[in-house]
Amino acid sequence: MQNILYFDVCSIPIFLVIFITVFVRRMTKGNTNRLFIALIILSAVCAFSDVILEYCCRSLPISDVRLITADIFTHIYFLTRTATIVVYFFFIFSVTGTWYRVRSAEMKVVLLIPMAVMYLMIFTNMFTGAVFTITPEEGYRRGYAIYVLYAICVLYAFIGTIYLLVSCRRFLPVGKLVALLAMYVLSMIAVVVQYFMPFLMIEMIVTAFSLILVVLFLLRPEEISDASVGSLSFGAYRSDIRKVLMTKQKVQIAVISFINARELQSYFGEERYLFYVSHVIKQLNMMFHREHIFFDIYFEQPGTVYIMVDDPNYDIEDAYKRLAEELRRSSDIAASAGERIIPRACNIVIPDDLSDIDEIIKFGREFHTQMPQGRIFAKAAEIISSRDYKVMSNIDTILSRAITQNKFRMYYQPIYSVEQKKFVSAEALIRLNDEEYGFVSPGIFIPAAEKRGIIIPIGDFVLEDVHRFISDIDFEKLGLEYIEINLSVAQCMQEELPGKLAVLSEKYGVSPDKINLEITETTYENTGNIMEFNLEALSGMGYTFSLDDYGTGYSNMHRVSKLPLKIIKLDKTLVDGMASEEGRSIVRNTVKMMRDIDKELVAEGVETQTELHSLEDMGCHFIQGYCFSKPLPADEFVKFVREHNRVNA
Ligand code: C2E
Ligand code: MG
Ligand code: MG
Repeated sequence: MQNILYFDVCSIPIFLVIFITVFVRRMTKGNTNRLFIALIILSAVCAFSDVILEYCCRSLPISDVRLITADIFTHIYFLTRTATIVVYFFFIFSVTGTWYRVRSAEMKVVLLIPMAVMYLMIFTNMFTGAVFTITPEEGYRRGYAIYVLYAICVLYAFIGTIYLLVSCRRFLPVGKLVALLAMYVLSMIAVVVQYFMPFLMIEMIVTAFSLILVVLFLLRPEEISDASVGSLSFGAYRSDIRKVLMTKQKVQIAVISFINARELQSYFGEERYLFYVSHVIKQLNMMFHREHIFFDIYFEQPGTVYIMVDDPNYDIEDAYKRLAEELRRSSDIAASAGERIIPRACNIVIPDDLSDIDEIIKFGREFHTQMPQGRIFAKAAEIISSRDYKVMSNIDTILSRAITQNKFRMYYQPIYSVEQKKFVSAEALIRLNDEEYGFVSPGIFIPAAEKRGIIIPIGDFVLEDVHRFISDIDFEKLGLEYIEINLSVAQCMQEELPGKLAVLSEKYGVSPDKINLEITETTYENTGNIMEFNLEALSGMGYTFSLDDYGTGYSNMHRVSKLPLKIIKLDKTLVDGMASEEGRSIVRNTVKMMRDIDKELVAEGVETQTELHSLEDMGCHFIQGYCFSKPLPADEFVKFVREHNRVNA
């Protein structure tokens, strides 16, 4: 029976199309893509030699030329056919992200020995005729060694299949697993079919079909790459971490976070900003390539770059410094961006530092808020072992313990009136002393409680405790006029806030003019109508308001003048800025402006006598800060005021 050549012939244009798609889709970089390209080329050459062989054997007259041609192409056929099986074997490790298993030289040698045996047999075939012979009398004849070749190929296919089924099944989605297995399973079937029906030449078309499956199910660059900056995507980062954890690899992740990414985006514009990021990524690529490091780079909007490095001992801090230096010396855009960019970097060793996928991702996104003071680079281990990090990671336990065991206490920080020369009020500040972690700053637990939606009960505690405090002491006799209470956004958005305050006022006999409610500009921005309604209702009831942290956000004077605010609280950063003439000028003008629109001004965070005297000279109405006292427990606060107000009276 004549050999049916059509399948082989058809497979060649398929290989060609796959080859072209690989380039069109820019799947050319990286180990996996390179192995895949090798697979296509080997398969195409193999199919081509098969076609030539059939053509030679059938149509050419028997001659030396025909014999030599047949001999050469049979060699090429065997070489490429066996190579596809071996390359595919390594491709499996690369595409599943488990290359580290075959990375070591010893492992490669062990795995390549069977291939070396095959090649030895094929190369020495011209002397031994062990694999095949081609003679004018008998034409093509299989030798005994061909069974050794089959056996070795089956061995690779067998190990590959078992590896996929046992080790990779846990993290590979079914579609991907089936697509990867298809090559071996279908090839085995094709080999058997072709062995018994040599005229049915289906091996190469089956290979082509398997490669199509791989392209469709596994090599989808749009799924794993971020074309905007030329790196892998955040989705790929997540799935690679999962792989690393499941396969118990030890790797390092370097995280570079542009903490002013949003500002850079609005400064440069989206496109120019992304161009800059792609420039950074290009430099990173070049640097790691130069150093022969096995790595992958991922990007997460708006500005976090993750680099997964296979070698857990690679000095990332040093590499980061060199990168920063290279960027400084590189193109104009990078240089101009480099001056504005505020980067923070860290390295996480997995699984030593962290071994939970959510924790790793969260850490990468938030580590910059936990950096040791004044540092640009820190090791994750260092941050993780810090007290603040431990507190943050256990904040849920800390908060629920505080709520169920009534651990919150109110402290009062005296506020001094420059005109009356005595302490007339105080800011109520919440304190939490945890049994395990000690003092936990409200700067940490208040935002955490807001995020978790449990700020309301905490706020309710504050309101009640302050009312009780005012009613318990000789408030007016002490010379006190009002207590300032911080309100969080969620509290301001509560429709029942005026009602709650009315109940407390009644219950403790505390008139509304003894309470001043502190809000911030962000509170006002985020709360819309309910806030306006509450402000109006509470003002009508006799409560007054302060604007806290003035000078930290984009303070809007127009809005400040329109809101029913009695007091403006100048933030500590402005007070700190008074060390310079420029800073003093800002404060002087702010004080003047506020006086002009009839607002009272409290300067917060006043620590030194110099600051105190400057503020007094400028005409600031009230002073709050360590220069007088830190926040004090209720009884100590009363003692403090009693002593100081009497002295000044
Ligand atoms: P804030 O309302 O701006 O409070 C002023 C902060 O500055 C307080 O920090 C106070 O202890 C600190 N401070 C005052 N004078 C000085 C000084 O001279 N030097 C320095 N270094 N710091 C000074 P604290 O108590 O840690 O509170 C931090 C923030 O937590 C507060 O900022 C406020 O936003 C929030 N907070 C505190 N208590 C409450 C509360 O009861 N409810 C709500 N919703 N938020 C609260
Ligand atoms: Mg405040
Ligand atoms: Mg403040």
